Amino acid sequence: MVIIGGGSVGASTLYHLTKLGVNNAVLLERDQLTSGTTWHSAGLVWRLRPSDVEVELLAHTRELARDVLDKETGLWAGWNENGGLFIANNKERLDEYKRLMTVSYLVLVVPTIFTSWIMSRLL
Ligand SMILES: Cc1cc2nc3c(=O)[nH]c(=O)nc-3n(C[C@H](O)[C@H](O)[C@H](O)COP(=O)(O)OP(=O)(O)OC[C@H]3O[C@@H](n4cnc5c(N)ncnc54)[C@H](O)[C@@H]3O)c2cc1C
Repeated sequence: MVIIGGGSVGASTLYHLTKLGVNNAVLLERDQLTSGTTWHSAGLVWRLRPSDVEVELLAHTRELARDVLDKETGLWAGWNENGGLFIANNKERLDEYKRLMTVSYLVLVVPTIFTSWIMSRLL
């Protein structure tokens, strides 16, 4: 089995196939591992996305990076537990984030909306 591309998706596919017992999988990367778009988003694994499938994938990835990979490999996976801010500067974006808030309770995240007045004092 050949996986083309060593970004987060290819690497995760190889990892999970191996976990499932596939022992003839190989990953081909034309440059360096994670040098594609994955490089741009290192450290930004959000918990909320518009679809429940994405939310589940993110939750699984977080669990792997935070609790599993270190133990399996003996190496630090580089996980830092941070919070995050979604910043809306128009009504449409704010509505989108409010919709995301309805998903958030499913993953036990309790978000807060800060007004621009509060933000101007926090930043
Ligand atoms: C600026 C930016 C910010 C982002 N911010 C976030 C964020 O905050 N949170 C988030 O979850 N997501 C974010 N994303 C999206 C996220 O980075 C991507 O969805 C994810 O990294 C895609 O992973 P991938 O493995 O599919 O692709 P890639 O990481 O692009 O990996 C594809 C790999 O395939 C290799 N490749 C391509 N063609 C071949 C070939 N023919 N032979 C061999 N190798 C090949 C490439 O070299 C590359 O390494 C962001 C993306 C960008 C660009």
